[in-house]
Amino acid sequence: MSIEKVERIPSLAQGTMPKDKKEKRSRKEEKPYSDKKPRKDSTVVKSFSDMGLKPDLLKGIYAYGFERPSAIQQRAIRPIISGRDVIAQSQSGTGKTAVFSISALQLLKEKSGNTQVLILSPTRELAEQTQKVVQALGDFMNVKCHACMGGKSLGLDIKALEQGAVQIVSGTPGRVFDLIRRNALNPSNLKAMIIDEADEMLDKGFKEQIYDIYRFLPASTQVVLMSATL
Ligand code: AMP
Repeated sequence: MSIEKVERIPSLAQGTMPKDKKEKRSRKEEKPYSDKKPRKDSTVVKSFSDMGLKPDLLKGIYAYGFERPSAIQQRAIRPIISGRDVIAQSQSGTGKTAVFSISALQLLKEKSGNTQVLILSPTRELAEQTQKVVQALGDFMNVKCHACMGGKSLGLDIKALEQGAVQIVSGTPGRVFDLIRRNALNPSNLKAMIIDEADEMLDKGFKEQIYDIYRFLPASTQVVLMSATL
């Protein structure tokens, strides 16, 4: 990934573009997004039941206690689950964790034990918190989310990943890169990489580590950036 590519990901406010068309177009040809009609999947969806989610995921969402999607959930989940690269910007406390947790659960194939979604967070606490939210929302699904972060046993992470069936990894960049380098975490089946607190993550020290990880991902991997500020 080049930084330009990340920065050119259209924001939700501007609308989004299908991945296949994105590659074919040059920047010159791009029209301002405001000229275009809103796409079907970038419209506001006011109910979780209208998002086309898997029944067991929907069950998990309601069992978790969510009744209606928050504003960012109404706008961001659909574009993400339809495979677009998305930047979602919303203040803290507005339900961003559930945006990408629900999306990650929807994107994965439960029957496959491959690691399919990678969620990166700047702190161990956040990575662990995200893992718990994913696992709770996916309570009725056959899903395993593992938290990989510094400060916890590397051996246990390697063991968990080698045992297989870890479909979602929630981690901090340093540990995740370490696991990829050691061939413990196989990135070749990753459908999506989600970067939480993207402003912080693409600034300062994490940027290099995120590039290092990105270099191992298949070209088709979808990228989602979540941030309170950009
Ligand atoms: P976050 O912005 O992800 O840190 O979420 C802030 C709080 O809002 C957390 O306690 C979430 O559990 C809660 N929350 C997120 N989405 C919803 C929703 N759709 N309905 C009710 N509470 C929610």
